[in-house]
Amino acid sequence: LRKIGVFTSGGDAPGMNAAIRAVTRAAIANKLKVTGIRRGYQGMIEGDFIPLRSSDVSGIIQLGGTILRTARSKEFRTPEGREKAWQQLQNAGIDAVVVIGGDGSFTGALTMSQEYNISFVGIPGTIDNDIYGTDYTIGYETALNSVVCAVDKIRDTAVSHGRIFMVEVMGREAGLLALNSGIACGAEVILIPESKEQHDALKRFLDKGYKRKERSGIVIVAEGDEPGGALKLAENVRCEHPELDVRVSILGHIQRGGSPTANDRINATRMGVAAVDALLDDQKSIMIGIDNGRIVQVPFNKAVKLNHSFDRELLEIQKMLNI
Ligand code: ATP
Repeated sequence: LRKIGVFTSGGDAPGMNAAIRAVTRAAIANKLKVTGIRRGYQGMIEGDFIPLRSSDVSGIIQLGGTILRTARSKEFRTPEGREKAWQQLQNAGIDAVVVIGGDGSFTGALTMSQEYNISFVGIPGTIDNDIYGTDYTIGYETALNSVVCAVDKIRDTAVSHGRIFMVEVMGREAGLLALNSGIACGAEVILIPESKEQHDALKRFLDKGYKRKERSGIVIVAEGDEPGGALKLAENVRCEHPELDVRVSILGHIQRGGSPTANDRINATRMGVAAVDALLDDQKSIMIGIDNGRIVQVPFNKAVKLNHSFDRELLEIQKMLNI
């Protein structure tokens, strides 16, 4: 092993830069050369490579986003695209690659490693925290705190004006961000894709509010809860309860940005170093994870196929506390 590549792929997440820094410096400490692949798999196909020295990753640990930029690449999904990517890696003398991204990015890496002789090690970087085999994904904690800060502010208006706010948070398939931010904000109802029974809780809350004239509250809606998200939901609620002042706030991309929390930086750093160790140890097609505080290695095929467990207990706690 002489030269490794590192890249970020899929949605950006705060802490990706801390991971790039750790991978680069751990590799250099082990006498490896490092190439940064810009714009994910698309940059790999186009040979958009830059050498990374230790000084290139200084002053980035506290920055959100990714200095290597990121992309979604349709071309990489085709055998022709992956052949071009392989040629580019060969031409640059890259023997192994660290991929920082979500399950889509790992699926791409697994596919390519089955077709060509190249080792990939993954680091989970996504604000959804929806990857099997790891307690943390980089960026989740920062996003969670961003949601909580935003909802606290919305609560002020909700209470002052007696409004019900439907706050839409990211999570197309996973409701973890919604569930935990809802707990942290004391949301009256939390709607997540994993549990449809929460719609009964919403109905009970709306009926109760009408009777008691308590007409303010926060309903957290994971974007994947139902087609049309919070906007559609608010429309339905307005029809059934014209007496209520229902507003919608879609938090959108503020959830992705910002300076990573201390834990996101620490986890990214630990996983970055562990990824280089794994490559030096001839590992391939595995993701580095953190399980009960310890670094673990999870085969890609498990990380991308199995579901991240959903904490039903948290949902029960939320229901009990919102009597
Ligand atoms: P996030 O969780 O933030 O969305 P992700 O890594 O899951 O991150 P995706 O857009 O699903 O994001 O995947 C990133 C890229 O990985 C895709 O744009 C594509 O280039 C590649 N990829 C995903 N799935 C496959 C696949 N089945 N075969 C080949 N490449 C794939």
